[in-house]
Amino acid sequence: MSRLALEHLSKVFTDDDGSDIVAVDDVSVDIGDGEFLVLVGPSGCGKSTTLRMVAGLETVTSGDILLGDESIADKGPQERDIAMVFQSYALYPHMTVRGNMSFGLEESTDMSDAEIRELVEETAEMLGIEPLLDRKPSELSGGQQQRVALGRAIVRDPEVFLMDEPLSNLDAKLRSQMRTELQRLQEDLDVTTMYVTHDQTEAMTMGDRIAVLDDGRLQQAGTPLECYHRPANRFVAGFIGEPSMNFFEMTVEGDTLVGEHFTYPLSEDAASAVRSATEVTLGVRPEDVELVDAATGEHDYETIVDVVEPMGNENAVYLTFEDDDRTFVATVGGMRTVEAGTKTVARFPEDAIHLFDGDTGEALK
Ligand code: ATP
Repeated sequence: MSRLALEHLSKVFTDDDGSDIVAVDDVSVDIGDGEFLVLVGPSGCGKSTTLRMVAGLETVTSGDILLGDESIADKGPQERDIAMVFQSYALYPHMTVRGNMSFGLEESTDMSDAEIRELVEETAEMLGIEPLLDRKPSELSGGQQQRVALGRAIVRDPEVFLMDEPLSNLDAKLRSQMRTELQRLQEDLDVTTMYVTHDQTEAMTMGDRIAVLDDGRLQQAGTPLECYHRPANRFVAGFIGEPSMNFFEMTVEGDTLVGEHFTYPLSEDAASAVRSATEVTLGVRPEDVELVDAATGEHDYETIVDVVEPMGNENAVYLTFEDDDRTFVATVGGMRTVEAGTKTVARFPEDAIHLFDGDTGEALK
């Protein structure tokens, strides 16, 4: 069983003046056998520190790490059946690809030289790097080096793969190609995988589940679609999705939300969801903002088109309310013509809006 469980995991560093830096704060998450979990969050939120604790490269301040039913928190990196792929690839420059991939296998397994040779060649073939086996890392492109780094992890046949931003040094096209390849490989190999990235698109497209971190704390763990459609709080709502969700600060007045530029009448259900709050944030995703010709409903608002950004299959339309220079964004089909400087009506349909507590940021609806 290669289920990996982080239980109340924390890491506190002490800086030069002796003050504490809480890098990881009471994180609990389970990664099922063969599951691909993406740990995602902004720079400095504690992703790498979490991964490094699982790898055994960083000590645990408190909490536990279980592989199957066994705690591995106090084991050395070599004693954990885990292989890590780094952003920097970390290949040995003086060794060939073959040497890099087979390094350590002689000592750590009872395989014969011939068996190791066969395994390395099979893995290289799977990754499309067989013709490069006798080259040195300096004679390879970034994408090829990345495949070697992956190959080195794969030949060790570990119970868990840990990957720290492994695609971030590749150009956009290669990155998206490698994303698909990595997913396919992970599915074929069926190895429990924890993958770190700050890129929400990568997280959304690759993860069976994603765990969103901010400021060392787990904000939400769920499938990409759960996190997208039912964000647990305002942070997750704003972090997942591109362009980001639009937010408006509103005051609760009975069954109506009152904001700086518009009021939003609520249905009975929504009104009861916000009853305990005085201030709420109304969130609406750009694709849920409808642009209509005339205000006919109670959730229709007069706006001015500020800028239109063509994105190919769709246009991002930046809108403002009169007397305001802040914009919010709607995405519409690429064939639709919307002109900057014109007036339009933005509709925020009630079934598409999200409501967050103004104080805590927790989702209310
Ligand atoms: P990035 O995406 O930028 O790599 P991250 O989410 O991986 O960021 P971490 O590298 O885990 O973040 O860092 C989390 C916090 O811990 C940061 O505030 C960082 O400055 C701090 N930190 C990390 N390593 C150390 C260390 N060795 N000593 C002191 N503070 C550290």
